[in-house]
Amino acid sequence: MSKPTPRRNARHQQKRGQKRQQRWPDQALKDPRQPPPAPKPKPVSREELIGRIAVQTDKYKRRLPLVAKAAHADFDELLRVPPEVTCRKGCSACCRQHVVVSLAEASNLVQAYPDLIAAARPVLERQAKIVPTFHTAEADAIAQNWWKSGETCAFLQNDECSIYAHRPFVCRKYFVLSDPALCASEVATDVVVALPNGANELMAQMWAHEQRATNQVILGSLPKLLLQVTDALSQLEALRIQHLETGAST
Ligand code: SF4
Repeated sequence: MSKPTPRRNARHQQKRGQKRQQRWPDQALKDPRQPPPAPKPKPVSREELIGRIAVQTDKYKRRLPLVAKAAHADFDELLRVPPEVTCRKGCSACCRQHVVVSLAEASNLVQAYPDLIAAARPVLERQAKIVPTFHTAEADAIAQNWWKSGETCAFLQNDECSIYAHRPFVCRKYFVLSDPALCASEVATDVVVALPNGANELMAQMWAHEQRATNQVILGSLPKLLLQVTDALSQLEALRIQHLETGAST
């Protein structure tokens, strides 16, 4: 019997492989020549999962922006601003800090400023990579990391907030009592910041209200949460159109 050439040998191996696959289809996975099975998809993070669920629910889609608007109005009314505050139009050092928003606030912004958010998308995508997941326990480290990145809020235009009417809680509660020029310093040790009338407690109360209204409160980094809400709503709209088209053709 002639010695098999490498080519004949390969054909022979291939045929054997095919035969084995016909007899024991599940054996193909165990064959060392087969590529390993694809790894299971990674579990979706809590933030992504809850974000998807929340915004894909029609009930919350309508309710969340209303919750944010009402909470912001209450917050502004309850928050008494000290007269010695030195923040002025055109001060923007605060807008170089990391901004945390709730899901209701993000939904409200998506509804109020779809064109602005679409225009800012490249910046938001770049910034979302700085804070891919947000956990309150790591808020300080995240804030420092953001500051070091030198990023400015995507909605700061000509040193003014372009979403001022619907700006998040964290932007509403921040007041400076010292010379505004000091805020621009990276170290900013001499800056005196006032959180008047228990602003943090008020904010926590507002988030608790959001929790009661929607059964959950989700906090996230402004760029990432805005993108998640926008994308989830687009998906939902695409599904709705598909559903209508399928219904129309049957
Ligand atoms: S939302 Fe407005 S106020 Fe808040 S950081 Fe951005 S530009 Fe500044």
